[in-house]
Amino acid sequence: MKFVLLGPPGAGKGTQAEKLAKKYGIPHIATGDILRQSVKDRTKSGMLAKSYMDKGELVPDQILIGIIRDRLSNPDCSKGFILDGFPRTVTQADALSSILRRLNQKLNGMINLEVPQEKVIARLSSRRVCRSCGTNYHIEFNPPKEEGKCDKCDGQLYQRDDDKEESIQNRLKVYQRQTEPLIKYYKKEGLLIPVDGAKDISAVFEDLCTIVEGVKK
Ligand code: ADP
Ligand code: AMP
Repeated sequence: MKFVLLGPPGAGKGTQAEKLAKKYGIPHIATGDILRQSVKDRTKSGMLAKSYMDKGELVPDQILIGIIRDRLSNPDCSKGFILDGFPRTVTQADALSSILRRLNQKLNGMINLEVPQEKVIARLSSRRVCRSCGTNYHIEFNPPKEEGKCDKCDGQLYQRDDDKEESIQNRLKVYQRQTEPLIKYYKKEGLLIPVDGAKDISAVFEDLCTIVEGVKK
């Protein structure tokens, strides 16, 4: 199963991708997580990416395309993957098509998590992330068992810098300008699968499993 999860920041892509990856035993490839790790490791691309990420801007296409080309060539992706946060521009979508063509692979679908703007703002402003393993929580909708501590690894939870008010507004604008056109792009390709992402986490997951089961071989 090879799916892309699309949707505005805060739509629930990371939350759902993690659950799907666990249930179906396929890699969850989140470009935001890969970039945050590169920043932490102080790699060359991480240092370059940081200035864009802090402002809520997109990191240049060529960096992301290189990351995804390497990651999808890894043998663990041959049976399937969930892409979360990539592609985010038409250039990235074109690159993804050509990378998959070269690997002799095809996407099963592009799942668009539809969530109204006021809901994504509420989700992002109270999101907390584990410093060690990257698991997402929400203070109200998906709280950890113990405040400030990750259920899985006991790691410390923090608020991402780009989840602060000014950055959220900019990220939503960037999404509308640069990423939303991908809905039409994938519709044209016959790959668009719209999903109501405004429901609660378990209800969205059930809908996604029904879709994924439909293509599972
Ligand atoms: P994205 O990866 O699309 O940016 P996340 O998966 O990180 O979004 O979710 C953003 C925030 O919203 C997190 O705090 C998460 O716990 C919460 N969340 C995710 N899905 C839902 C949902 N269906 N209902 C309520 N809160 C959700
Ligand atoms: P995310 O964790 O998906 O919300 O991504 C966090 C930030 O990483 C984004 O605001 C961008 O700055 C950067 N980023 C992640 N994925 C991409 C991508 N595909 N293209 C460009 N920038 C990206």
